[in-house]
Amino acid sequence: MNQINKIEEILRGLDKLPTLPGIAMKILELVRDEDTNLKEIADVLSTDPPLSAQVLKLINSPFYGVRKQVTSVPHAVNLLGLNTVKNLALSFSLLRDFPKGNKEDFDYTSFWKQSLIGAVSSKLIAEKVIPSFSEDAFFLGLIHNIGILALIQCMPQQYSLVLKEKDRTLCSYHEAENQILGFNHMEIGEYLIRTWGLPETFCIPVLYHHNPQGLKTKNSKIELLTRVLNLSSLFIDLNTFADKKLYLAMLKLNIKEYGFTGKFQTDEIIKQLHEHTLEIFPLFDIKIGEEKAYLEMIGAAREELINLSTDFMHKLLEQKRLIESLREETIRDGLTNLFNYQRFQESLEKEVYRAKRYNLQLSVILADIDHFKAVNDNYGHLAGDYSLKKIAECLKDSLRESDSAARYGGEEFAFILPETGLDGAFIVAERLRKDIDSMSIDYEGEKISTTMSFGIASFDPSKDISKTDLIKKVDHALYQAKKAGRNKCCLFDTGLEKSLKKVLVTAN
Ligand code: GH3
Ligand code: MG
Ligand code: MG
Repeated sequence: MNQINKIEEILRGLDKLPTLPGIAMKILELVRDEDTNLKEIADVLSTDPPLSAQVLKLINSPFYGVRKQVTSVPHAVNLLGLNTVKNLALSFSLLRDFPKGNKEDFDYTSFWKQSLIGAVSSKLIAEKVIPSFSEDAFFLGLIHNIGILALIQCMPQQYSLVLKEKDRTLCSYHEAENQILGFNHMEIGEYLIRTWGLPETFCIPVLYHHNPQGLKTKNSKIELLTRVLNLSSLFIDLNTFADKKLYLAMLKLNIKEYGFTGKFQTDEIIKQLHEHTLEIFPLFDIKIGEEKAYLEMIGAAREELINLSTDFMHKLLEQKRLIESLREETIRDGLTNLFNYQRFQESLEKEVYRAKRYNLQLSVILADIDHFKAVNDNYGHLAGDYSLKKIAECLKDSLRESDSAARYGGEEFAFILPETGLDGAFIVAERLRKDIDSMSIDYEGEKISTTMSFGIASFDPSKDISKTDLIKKVDHALYQAKKAGRNKCCLFDTGLEKSLKKVLVTAN
């Protein structure tokens, strides 16, 4: 199952997907339709006078810089165009029905403040780099984190684990989501707004806003909007996190990388962003809090940054990368670079939870090198280490992207295969077995050949309770593979669990 199907499956299993208010649905229809005319939008807005009033207030605010007082929807459309009015109406109608304030462990007001910072900064940057999309950029910036809200609504308990992880490790939402849930708000957000019928120019930037480097597209609009959104998420971080210097430095480097240098000044955007958000928070019924002190903090960080050499800035970013790589190190095995035992146990626990929760298949493979002691005895311990490394590489290469590989112990490896049944896992194990069987390791002129034995087991929601049950089964299947003569794959047959003896042997 690919990631999209997976997300679809997960969302389908949940009962509380965020629904859009009726008026937002109507406006969305208008947004989708290229031929919408003034009368249609005026008709929809006239059914909701407070909404039209909000739109007009925003248009009359300095953010839009319209000199004359705008008094009606047709007037607004005349001055700013239909697209602007549609986007603003959509933004207001969307925000109005979502919860606000601080509920349980999630602060909705902060969330919406950040989203509005995203909206305003996206618009301000887009005006400089892709002006024809600056109105779309406002709405895009506003909804780019909508996946977070969807997840909170759909899976409040799991998401509170995400929030705890985020607070504990000071990482971003998407890092904590990947860690705990195995997917993130970008994927959910993209799926959601796709179902709302919004075009690719919205969906793709939402999916890639934390990873614009990963986007491969020939569509320059989508590429530009993704970069705009990425910068605007850095403006949100700059506003949110204490380490202002770091985000200023990151903004500077990304602006350069995207070729935006000279198109706008970061300082100018910060200043305008601050002024405009103060202006528009109340229009969206959001109270202004500590924002006033914010500019002073940025000012101080900027002063410092001006005095810092480029060299230092790179060191600053290096520091961030170092912290990330240290985090990586604690979960990987030093010799093979596969996940370590600890991490395997944690991942399996999560996968078992997900399999139970969403009724998904899950299999595990445990593999052990045959007569590995003889490799050490015949070629020496260093040759043994080298072989372990090469074998790990070969196993990793033969595995699918979605499966994870760990070094389980000395010469034992374990693989988690989410959403895979026993038959599928057997095919994977057979492929791994054959690859190892046919590989020859060159070590200082010597050619070393090895084989491996594989045990395979699947999670059975009707019988298995925890990951321990699954490990017991796969361990037993591996034992049977050894007993059957090594270089074999053995399935743990759930139907014969009681005897724990009969296993299917298919190899050679
Ligand atoms: P079997 O087919 O029954 O698994 O035979 P075996 O020789 O592989 O099994 P046994 O458990 O008797 O021995 C495992 C060997 O693996 C002995 C140990 O020195 C070696 N080994 C485990 N970890 C490492 C390591 O990190 N480096 C090296 N070089 N050898 C290791
Ligand atoms: Mg062995
Ligand atoms: Mg062993």
